[in-house]
Order: sequence, then structure tokens, then C-alpha cells
Amino acid sequence: MDRKRVLITGGTGRLARNWAAAICSEFQVLLADRRRTESLLQAQHMRVDLGDKRALTRQILDGSPDIVVHASGLANVEMCEANHGLSNKVNVIAATNVADVCAFLGISLIHISTDHLFSSGAGWFLETDVPQPLNVYARSKALAESSVLDCHPDALILRTNFFGHAAPGRQSMSSWILSTLQAREPVRLFSDVFFTPVLASNLARDAMELVRMGAKGIFNIASKDRVSKYEFGMLLCEEFGLDKNLVVSESIDNRSDLVNRPHEMSLSGLKSELYLGRSCKSVGEHIRDLRIEDDLGLGRLIVKNRTPYGRHQVSEPDIAAVSTQMRVGSLTQGETITEFERAVANRVNAEYAVAVSSGTAGLHLALLAADLNSGSRAITSAVSFASSANAARFFGAEVDFADIDRKTLNMTPETLKATLGTSGGQLDAVVAVHMAGLSANMQGIRSIASASGAAVIEDAAHALGGHDADGNPVGSCSHSDMTVFSLHPVKTIAAGEGGVVTTNSRDLYRRLLRLRSHGINKELDTMTEAKDPITGDEITPWRYEMLELGFNYRLTDVQAALALSQLNRLDDFVSRRRELACLYDSEFKDHDLVKPYHQAWRSFSAHHLYIVDIGFDRISLSRGELMRLLSEEGFVTQVHYLPIPAHPYYREAGYGLGNVPNATSYYRGALSIPLYVDLSDGEARRFAATLKGLVDGNRT
Ligand SMILES: *Cc1c(COP(=O)(O)O)cnc(C)c1O
Repeated sequence: MDRKRVLITGGTGRLARNWAAAICSEFQVLLADRRRTESLLQAQHMRVDLGDKRALTRQILDGSPDIVVHASGLANVEMCEANHGLSNKVNVIAATNVADVCAFLGISLIHISTDHLFSSGAGWFLETDVPQPLNVYARSKALAESSVLDCHPDALILRTNFFGHAAPGRQSMSSWILSTLQAREPVRLFSDVFFTPVLASNLARDAMELVRMGAKGIFNIASKDRVSKYEFGMLLCEEFGLDKNLVVSESIDNRSDLVNRPHEMSLSGLKSELYLGRSCKSVGEHIRDLRIEDDLGLGRLIVKNRTPYGRHQVSEPDIAAVSTQMRVGSLTQGETITEFERAVANRVNAEYAVAVSSGTAGLHLALLAADLNSGSRAITSAVSFASSANAARFFGAEVDFADIDRKTLNMTPETLKATLGTSGGQLDAVVAVHMAGLSANMQGIRSIASASGAAVIEDAAHALGGHDADGNPVGSCSHSDMTVFSLHPVKTIAAGEGGVVTTNSRDLYRRLLRLRSHGINKELDTMTEAKDPITGDEITPWRYEMLELGFNYRLTDVQAALALSQLNRLDDFVSRRRELACLYDSEFKDHDLVKPYHQAWRSFSAHHLYIVDIGFDRISLSRGELMRLLSEEGFVTQVHYLPIPAHPYYREAGYGLGNVPNATSYYRGALSIPLYVDLSDGEARRFAATLKGLVDGNRT
């Protein structure tokens, strides 16, 4: 039988992460949050907009859960007090939207409430006790309960207070106490605030069982015994073998700086005991379960995100554009491709654009359109993705490699000239790469290429949305014949796979179109023959003629719909990348062993990659070891690139690194670190701190 699907909101938060860890062997878990953020847990991850009911309906429908757990909320009491609007938006409106949508779609709902609802009394509150909220937070949670039940009368509402493993960037009460005590620093805890806390994973298991039993309405999930916060700290000390003398008792009455809070939050678990047919665990038992989970390494999985070095962003409009294309449009060659081509040409200020099936296909076609053949010679940058060079090798042309400049990481007019000297002077095409999104000096490169009559092609796979030093958009071909972009998801905008070539030459444009589609001409007015070669009839409209050996390098309309929708956000993409790049710049400012590239050009790079130079000769870690340690923290890094002539294929063909010393020395220290539109500032800072920590901790 298929496992049931459980969608948990607040997917990067503490409760959601602990919940997912507790149930993911039994259920298919979808962690949903404002950003699609991956965890190390066995779960799927998706984006949801809790504030937008229409979007949310579509998103939940797409996730098709059997059960929704609404674990998202703003539990920071001071923040709620300071910002009523936010408290209402997060705790009431979002909860109501979720309940409304779940009711509408017939999906079971678990809504997480709080124990923070009462202002007086002796504790052991029952589900039938009417909330008496003391502050804005409590009011918002009480209001949410009734609003959720109004929308979704079958919802299960859980009043509780939980602890568990910390989530990314967020401490939990227990993790804060433990980490403080482990650092041998004192913690001050209230001895006059009482509660009945449970371990988040136990809460999750109880909740899933209640849902299975069809329970609805309000349930308390509580521990068997009622403890003060101070006693809770002491119990943690006992279980984890920490110094009890560091736990200091204080009275909440002495904390006039805090928002008014209840002294008594303890809940009676009697009703859930009756339903579940077993008695509640004591606080000590919950804490013991926490330690067992800790020993099993669960905490590490919960607290960490999986952060790649690069990732695309897919938004609801993107999804809508693709599904519209599939409903009403064509799948392969229709108007959306043309529309996308026109939009790209407009955007980069070029006359023409030709969409192709990949950046690599674009490079291949560009070289063929420039009339290169097996007797030709091209020069590209030594530091690039292999296809910058491969494209010429596809048809047997010679390739040579120009060294890079150690600052821009690009080929320069000088290194091009030097390579030209050693390669005997023949030059038919230059493929200039805009490394990491920074435009090469195309004006200088063009003037050297022109002297040899060579075509100039920009490999701008990294540089859509960037500009050259004079402010021309990359792709405008101000100093080149053609510019090639990639639409691979890790690049600036995504089409799945895809590429696009821009040019200002009508002849090149027509040639690219023809080569993209088998070398076929379909335009009657330009047919080379007036009569059918077999029947002798007049040429009729069905007729097409193949004029040269071409390829099927077409983009599909479905991909073009995605790319077109993404193109609308190009400015946002580039500016978010720039923001993150500047954040990293300040994180690594003045660090002697972690040195960012390209800082001087933040204003016009497209920021495809953020590359740092690491002083590996002064630390005891190799790059492989450093990358492995980072990946244990959930951070995926990458190296861009092994110099192309160092690949076995090129070495076997006789290439070497003798003429590219800068490429080689660059390669030794290079590391590309996480940079993508949905990367949060917090995650970027955590990455920077982790990297600096590892480098500083391993100095020799
Ligand atoms: C990605 C990339 C390519 C190839 O693009 P695809 O769309 O993946 O074929 C070419 N050159 C550079 C510099 C690239 O980064």
C-alpha cells in the first residue's frame, strides 16, 4: 500500500523538522515553506504561499497530501507584541487559509496551538477551559483555534509545548540550554513558570495516531508531570551529565523587561490518554528520548539544510506558464519559441536571437555558422566548462587555450595574443568565456581577432543579465559576431535544458536557424530550385529542401514557456545574486586565507558563481577534505573548473598546461560556494561562518 502523504508547513522550522524526522519512515513527508529549502531528511521539499489562498490551493493540490500539519507560526512573544500585524498574519490569517483550503479539498488537518492561552488558575488546564490570553501572541493563537475550527470543523487542534532538536538557524529551548551548559556558561531559568513539555517527535507520533483514530477538535498533548522551567533545565542536566550548578533559578516577576506571560501553562493530558489508551510520558522520559535521538545522530539531520552551490528558482507563474503551454499550445515548434527569442533579443539589445537545445548546441552552431571546418583553428579560455572547447572538436577543428588573468579569470587580449604566437598565427574563431558572469574585455579581444580575420563568439553561459565595462548588455554583440547563453537550470535562467544565440547579422541569423533544424530551408521564396527534382512540377507549399548537413538542435515550446517566464525575473535574479555576493564580500573581508574573486566588478557581473581562493598551502586540509567537511554540514561546494587541457581527452590529444600557468595556479585554490536566488542571508552567513571556522581551525 502507498504510504500516506503528509504536508508540513513551516518546513524549515523546528517543529516541522522534528516532526518529519519522527514520521518519515512511515509517511511520505513534504516539507513546505516560503522558500523551497532542502533538508538532509528523507522528505520532499516544496514552496508554499500561506498568505495567498489561491496559490495555496493550487500548491496543496499539487502536493496532494492526505494530511496537512500546520506547524508554521510566530512563537516569539516579544516579536508578536511589537508587531500585531505580523502576529495576525502569521498566526491567524495563514492558519485560517490553511484550514480553509484543507476543508475545501477534503484533507485532514492538524493545527498546532499552544499552552500559552491562560492567565490564571492552578494549571492542568483542560480542553474545555476557555482561553484567557495575556498577550498578543496568546490572543493570536486563541483566535486561530476558533477560526480554524470554523473553517474546518474536523480539524485536530493540538495544545502543547514541545522541545526537540534545533532547526537551521533556530535554537530550541532544550538545544539552547544544552549548548549553553556545554559551553560551561550559566543558564537562568524561571522557577515560577510551570509547563508540561513533550518531545516534538513524541508529539508527532501521538498526533498521527489521533488522526488515524479520527480524533477531531481540541486535544492537549502534555507530559505526565508538571515542571518549572528551572526543573526542566535540571532534568536536562541530569540526563546529559552536565553541571547542575550552572542552572540558575530566577523569578519571572523580576523580569519587567519581558512581555507579560502566564506563570501557569501546564495542560492535562487526560483526554489524549483516554483516546490513545496509554498514559502520558513524564518529562524525564521525554528528555531521555531526546538523548536517544541525539545518540542516533538525528539532531544533525534536523538542524542542517542541504545547500547546493547553485540552484534554479521555479515560481508559480513559471508553473502556470508551462501548464498553459501544455493545455493550449504546441509542444515543439510554435510561437512561444519565437516570442522567447524576441524577448531575449530585446533584453540584451541584439537584433536576433535563436533558441537552441543547449548552450553546447549553441556553441557548435555558432562555430559552424562562422564557417569553421575541420581545417580551422579556434582559441578559447583555459578555464571553462569543457564544451567551450569541445564545440570546435565536434567537427575536427583545432583548439588552443589562452591563459586567464588571475584577477578577472578571463582570457585577455594579451593572453590571446600570446596563444596566437605559439599556435602559429592561424585563427578562425575566438570563443571568449565570461567566467562566473564577468564579461571579458571583448573590445580588446575583437581587435586582435579581427587582425586574423577570425570570428568572435562569446560563451556567455554564465553571463545572462550582466554588462560589459561600457554598460553594454552581454549578448548585444557590441564587439562580437555571436553570443551564446545556456538555459541549464544552474545558470541564470532555466529552461530545463536549453540555450540561445544572439547576433546582429541577418546572414548569421538565417544560417543558425537552418543549422538548428537539419540544414533545411522551408521558405518558398528562397528555394534554390524552381522545379521538383523528380516530377518536374512547380514547387508547392509542402516542399522543403535540405541544403547542408544540419542538426536537430531545437528548443521545445514547453521549455521556451518556462524560459520566457523566467526571463521576466532576470533583473530580480541578478540583483539577488549581487546582494548575496556583497554579503559574502563583507563576511570574508580581510580574511587572509579566504579571498573572493571579482569584488571590484559587483556592479556589472551577472554573478553566476561566487568563487573564493583558499590558501590551502597554509592549512592542513586538502580541498577534497575541506569540501567533505562542508558537505557534512550540508553545504555542497564545487570547483569551476579543472583547466580544460588537463582533462584526459585533451591530454591524450597532446595538450598540456605549459602555456597556462595562471589557469593552473588559479585552479589550486578555487572553490565555488553556494550562490543562488533562494539562498537566504542567514544560510549564506552560516556557510561563511562554517567555512571560516574550518579554515581558521586548521591553520598550519
Ligand atoms: C554550462 C556551460 C556551457 C554549456 O551549456 P549547456 O547548456 O549545459 O550545454 C558552456 N560553457 C560554459 C562556460 C558553461 O558554464
